[in-house]
Formats: sequence, C-alpha cells, structure tokens
Amino acid sequence: MAEDRLPDEFTLIRRYFAPLATHPGAAALGDDVALIAPAPGLVHVLKTDTIVEGVHYFADDPAALVARKLLRVNLSDLAAKGARPVGYLLAASFAREMRESWLAEFARGLAEDQRTYGISLLGGDTTATPGPTTLTVTAIGEADAARVPRRSAAKPGHDIYVSGTLGDAALGLRVIKGELRGLSNEDADFLAGRYRLPEPRVALGQALIGIAVSAIDVSDGLVADLGHISEESRVRAEVQRDALPLSRAARAALATDPGLWPDIVAAGDDYEILFTAPSAAAEGIAGITRIGRIVAGQGVAILDPAGKPVEVKTAGYRHF
Ligand code: ADP
Ligand code: MG
Repeated sequence: MAEDRLPDEFTLIRRYFAPLATHPGAAALGDDVALIAPAPGLVHVLKTDTIVEGVHYFADDPAALVARKLLRVNLSDLAAKGARPVGYLLAASFAREMRESWLAEFARGLAEDQRTYGISLLGGDTTATPGPTTLTVTAIGEADAARVPRRSAAKPGHDIYVSGTLGDAALGLRVIKGELRGLSNEDADFLAGRYRLPEPRVALGQALIGIAVSAIDVSDGLVADLGHISEESRVRAEVQRDALPLSRAARAALATDPGLWPDIVAAGDDYEILFTAPSAAAEGIAGITRIGRIVAGQGVAILDPAGKPVEVKTAGYRHF
C-alpha cells in the first residue's frame, strides 16, 4: 500500500464490509437495506454507541482493538437485558487522513469478534468528515420482551448482585497512564487488559433470564449505575462495602494505595452485569457476588462493616 489512502466508498464497502455481512438478510450489502425478523415470540433489542477519535480512543490505538471494544460495549447492553446478539449496523465517518491499513485492521477486529459472538454486520453508512473519525455501532439482539430485566423493576427485599470483579478497568487505565506503580507485571497486565478489551457477559445475561428482575451493565461505575436502578425503580440500594468482589490485582493495588478506593465504586468500564433478584432466587445463582439489598427509600448507600454510609465522590466522565 504505497499511498495507503482510502479507496472510493464503493470499493471500500465491497472490500472491507461486504465480507462481514454473513447474515442472509444483509444480502452481502448488495441492497439499500437489510431485512431481519426476530425468532417467533421474541422482540428485537436495540442499542447504539458512538466512539470518537481523540475522545474514546487514540489514533495510535490498535485498530482491531478499537473495533472489538466498539462492538463489545454495545453487546454489554444487550447482555444486561438477557438478549441473544444477532448483528449490528456500522455508521463510519472517516477523517480525511484515514489510512487503508487502519481500516483493514479495523475490519479484521470486527471479523474476529463476529466469530466470538456469532453475529453479522447488517449494513451501515460510510462518509468522510473534516472532523475526527467517528464510529457508531447499532447492535441488534433478540429476547422475550416479558422477561427482559428492566432498570425500573427492582423491589424492596431484592438482593443486589454483580458479576465478575469491580474496578479493574479504572485501575487498568491508571496502569496504562503510568500512574500505578509497584504492581507485579502479571497484575498490571491483567488490569490493563480489563480496560483495553471488556468481556460483555453475553452468556451470563441469557442464563439470568427468569432470575434477574432488574439489571444494568456497569459502564459508568457501580454507584452511578445502581443509581439508575434506584431512580427508575424508586427504591434505595444498600451495598456492603466489604462484599464488593475484587480481583487479586485490585486488592494488591488497594493495599499499596487505599486512596484508589473510589476507582472500585465510582469508575466505569467494567461491563459486568449488575442485577437484583428476589431472595428466593438465591439458590439458582452461583459464582456471582451478592453485594447488598434493595429497601424502601431512595438513593444508593455504600455501608461500612458497622453499617455506616461511606462517602463516595462520583466524578464520572461527563461529555458536557
Ligand atoms: P445510500 O447511498 O443509500 O446511503 P450506501 O451506498 O451508503 O447507501 O450503502 C450501500 C450498502 O452498503 C447498504 O446496504 C449499506 O447498508 C451498506 N453500507 C454502507 N456503509 C456501510 C458500513 N460502514 N458498514 C456496513 N454496511 C455499510
Ligand atoms: Mg450512504
């Protein structure tokens, strides 16, 4: 690629995107639209996310990783709703300086995760922009509408659970920025990996159908995301600080600097599933941490072992 400039729009679509359109309804991107139907009795579950170069990723980030993260943050929302992912649309506005080699790597990343999650590209749009590259994925899944766990469905008496471990991604970003020293290489790599490439809990989300009554994925941080459940359900969420699931690496980081504590509860990007379920459901829930309970009232409280609320500053990222 002597020049490494983008080919014209139609060549670009044929070369990089048509091979990703494996769903028969996408007609290999040979038509204006794609036609898809949910399985009988199910509805489509839709979510879109945009990333902007210089805001969500950097020009020198590996393109395949950018692609996979973009897909995965969308799939995480579907996972929290127990949906089976089907495919996605891609709206791409490429900066004038965009190189074909970057696009080729980007498409390779999409292909890799399409295989991982059994999904297909279904269509999209391609434009050039005088601004930074802007990429939007709209993910499409399917689910039984009556059993989708909503933010608004938490009830007093429910237990609160979260999958995996919390805070790793926020700590991983610090590792990448060089702000976190004194960790073993293994722990540092683990944390950085949790930031670089989230693992949406797609299979878990579907396994929780009929168990999780309300749910959300943790993208803004535990306190903020539990806050959304509390607000939409008009209930109070009480979390036991000492019950929060931490990775070995996060424990090691906290041991060297307890001031990192807000990263565990107030920073995002973990893409775990946070859900509530009636206590009768506890028997059917294994390998997921119960972190608290829903009571009457409002707001979110993190309680110390004495039952005293701990103050948490939630300075999450704000675009505006
Ligand atoms: P229009 O001129 O109506 O905008 P296009 O020529 O842009 O249509 O698109 C032709 C086909 O290519 C359509 O099926 C569209 O969904 C698909 N397509 C265009 N851009 C992308 C993209 N970035 N990713 C996936 N499919 C795309
Ligand atoms: Mg177009």
